[in-house]
Order: sequence, then C-alpha cells, then structure tokens
Amino acid sequence: MLTIAISKGRIFADSIPLLAAAGIEPAVDPDKSRLLIIGTNRPDVQLLVVRATDVPTYVEYGAADVGSAGKDVLLEYDSDGLYEPLDLNIARCRMMTAARVGYHPAGQRLRVATKYVKIAQRYFAAQGIQAEIIKLYGSMELAPLVGLADCIVDLVDTGNTLKANGLEPRELIMHISSRLIVNKAAMKMKHAQVTEFIGHLSQFVANA
Ligand code: AMP
Repeated sequence: MLTIAISKGRIFADSIPLLAAAGIEPAVDPDKSRLLIIGTNRPDVQLLVVRATDVPTYVEYGAADVGSAGKDVLLEYDSDGLYEPLDLNIARCRMMTAARVGYHPAGQRLRVATKYVKIAQRYFAAQGIQAEIIKLYGSMELAPLVGLADCIVDLVDTGNTLKANGLEPRELIMHISSRLIVNKAAMKMKHAQVTEFIGHLSQFVANA
C-alpha cells in the first residue's frame, strides 16, 4: 500500500492532474467530503487528508509514505528526516514582506508579525536587520493596521489580500511552490512503488 498525505483546498486542486499522471484517481473529492482516509481507483494507493502544516509530520513518522507540502511549510517544519526529491511546481506564490502603503518604520528594531517565524528570523538576520518577530496564526494583514507590527511576512499570490487591507508588498524573500516529500524508510522498503510514483510525477512536471 502506498499512502499519500495531502491537504485540502489549493494544493489538492492542483494535485489532481499530478495524481492522474501517476494513474491515481481519488474515490471522492475531499473538499466535498468529511472522509480523512480516501481510497482511489488503485487498491494499492490511499490518500490521507491532513492539514497542510501536518503533512511533513505524517510523512516523517511514516504514517504516510509520501506527501505534498509547500516549501514554506517545509522550511518552518525544519527537519532533515525527510527526502524532498521533486519540486512539483504547483501552488506557486511568493514569500514577501509587506507594510502599510507608504509607511516607512523609523525605529531601530523592526516589529514583524508572521506565521513564518523561522523564515522571517533567517531573512532579517541575513539582512543584518534587528527584528522582533511576533508569532501570529492567521490574518497577519491586520497587525500593521492596528500598530501591532511595522510589517508582516506572508505568502502573496495575486496581491489582492494585501491591497484590500491597505498594505503593499515590499521585499521578495523567496519563491514558494509545493514539493514532493518522501519518508526515508519508505524510500528503501517500498522502493519500486515509490520510485515509480516519483517517475510519473517528474515526467508530468517536466512536460507541464
Ligand atoms: P493573494 O490575495 O492572491 O495575494 O493571496 C494571499 C493569501 O492567500 C494570503 O493569505 C496567503 O497566505 C494565501 N496564499 C497565497 N498563495 C498561497 C499558497 N500557494 N499556499 C498557501 N497559501 C497561499
């Protein structure tokens, strides 16, 4: 059995063609179902529907053999207990700093609100900028509007969310996309099945 950990929403929609390229069709649409373990057209393949930030955990501990996770999630998870053999080139966006339109902080120490604490810490340290990182779990756009932070670090796709809240993108920290991750033991114990799966996905990504 090959067990694939996947999250709902954006990543799942983009993953359907990738799974199809590997001959895998989910039995139900997870966005329309409450099922957390989903069978497929292949008796030897099942999907686990987990939170995006939990995908690396399921894969590292071997509850799933493979999974798809954003580079942002992987950098925050920060483990060397996973293989990351393939950039799936889906769910692409940018990790950026953003601030109120026209606002330029004057103080010595920048206050930065973000869900992406490790990425932000590394970025500002590399820039030689003293930053106080304030951890939030969502709606980061609010923080600069109410004086909680000078700026935020968040994912930007169209930029509409920033714009709607009177913020503007500033510096690009990195480009983000989803990656295939593989459990280290599964790579050995299920070698044929895992490498065949990676092969199909690589071919699809190369031709996309
Ligand atoms: P947008 O308004 O199109 O710039 O989208 C920004 C919002 O969508 C932010 O709240 C982001 O956290 C979220 N977002 C954008 N792209 C992604 C992605 N690839 N994965 C997860 N969240 C994303």
